[in-house]
Amino acid sequence: MSTNRLKELEQQARLLEMAPSKEPSIVDDIVEFTDQWIQSLPKEKSFYRDEDLKNLKGLKGFSEEGEGLAALLSEFNEEVLVPGINGGSGGHMGYIPGGGIYASALSDYLAAATNKYVGVYYAAPGAVKLENQLIKWMCNLVGLPESTSGGNLTSGGSMASLIAMVAARELSRVKAKDFERCAIYYTQHAHHSSTKAIINAGLKEAKIRHVPMDEKFRMKPLELQKMIEEDKERGLIPLMIMASAGTTDVGAVDPLDAIGEIANAHNIWYNVDAAYGGFFTLTEYGKKKLKGIEKADSVVIDSHKGLFLPFGSGAILVRDQKQLYNSQHLPANYMQDTMSNQGELSPADLSPELTKHFRGVRMWLPLRLLGIKPFRAALEEKLELARYFYQEVQKIPAIKVGPDPELSVFYFHFQPDGRDANLVTKQLLDEIHKDGRVFLSSTTIEGTFYIRVAILCFRTHLEHVQLALDIIREITSRITKSR
Ligand SMILES: *Cc1c(COP(=O)(O)O)cnc(C)c1O
Repeated sequence: MSTNRLKELEQQARLLEMAPSKEPSIVDDIVEFTDQWIQSLPKEKSFYRDEDLKNLKGLKGFSEEGEGLAALLSEFNEEVLVPGINGGSGGHMGYIPGGGIYASALSDYLAAATNKYVGVYYAAPGAVKLENQLIKWMCNLVGLPESTSGGNLTSGGSMASLIAMVAARELSRVKAKDFERCAIYYTQHAHHSSTKAIINAGLKEAKIRHVPMDEKFRMKPLELQKMIEEDKERGLIPLMIMASAGTTDVGAVDPLDAIGEIANAHNIWYNVDAAYGGFFTLTEYGKKKLKGIEKADSVVIDSHKGLFLPFGSGAILVRDQKQLYNSQHLPANYMQDTMSNQGELSPADLSPELTKHFRGVRMWLPLRLLGIKPFRAALEEKLELARYFYQEVQKIPAIKVGPDPELSVFYFHFQPDGRDANLVTKQLLDEIHKDGRVFLSSTTIEGTFYIRVAILCFRTHLEHVQLALDIIREITSRITKSR
């Protein structure tokens, strides 16, 4: 091959080195675009239904030659950012809202541009230390023991649950022939990622034992104990108890302490799904509410929920990181340089992932830059906002609420005299969605259709809750008059 061809290829390939100092600078344009987007949030809707956006053209295809940024940003805005739920909006009070704090976005920029490899200690001792420090901080927060605890930063709660399930399976030494004798305990309100973790861990044949709940949808410890004892007598192998520290449906916190006692007494892996509720331990109230979480063998926690980071941020925290290591560590020839036992445990030895985004930066930088205080305040604010919403919404005629919020989730429905409550509540939600200024979601509990409120976006403040109440007042009065 001639070196001329190489020069030619180099010339073309050098386009990939697009540094901020080079003209045209895309940095300023992207920052400007993002700034305007954030500034427009108070006026923007929280939700655009697909059927209301008739003029979407669909994303264009790829071509050999590059294109101008301005047109790309405008296409991105119209086709991607506008449709559906606005993930950054303070009016988003459905499902479990995220947030995406700006300091994290800039941290992602830092992580991506420098592209530090965070899989193994050998390649990036500082990066691994940074991630391990965050994991330790979270372990401390939920009260796992200082000396043995550890974990892994994951893409979210679902991956974290899977990692916990695999660790429990490996520790128990059950084999495929035993799987149908394994029993796993959780309530019907546990997140569906628990069932997914079981299936993905190959344990589809295991017996899923739905533990009965009290009137506030919390696991009944005595029933759990009875089930375990019966199962043991029948020759089953109790493999894991999955408690919830804040269910998605209603925000219920299982009695973590009592369940932990039972798990200990029977030596069963105790997983607490705190994907939604875990970071409320930063508040006084949350710390008390989640008492007993420190008894867990593993804790699932989502910083893209309770710490308002961009999506793709979760963690599995374990009481004994050796158990995680034993279930995930494998040697490989081409990794031989990295295998020295010096330094700290590597993320790749504690997770199914090898190469991954350097997620730690998006959590590390905001915590250091802003301090813990604003996070704590925001979480306390969300708890109070949910209580305020709950208290005010029941003053609206024909609105019936469910149990008072244990954290920042609750539900209600609309039941005017002589009308089908499911039907009119659906209509109410439809009209809230059509209006779009706030977004609420729904759930069905024991056959009844309910509107769900979940407050966790860092941008949600009193004004958004008041707006939501105004909208509900207006629509319900219109529906009532329209009979
Ligand atoms: C969100 C959530 C999950 C799943 O976490 P992802 O980050 O969406 O994968 C699991 N459990 C609970 C209670 C949740 O709220």
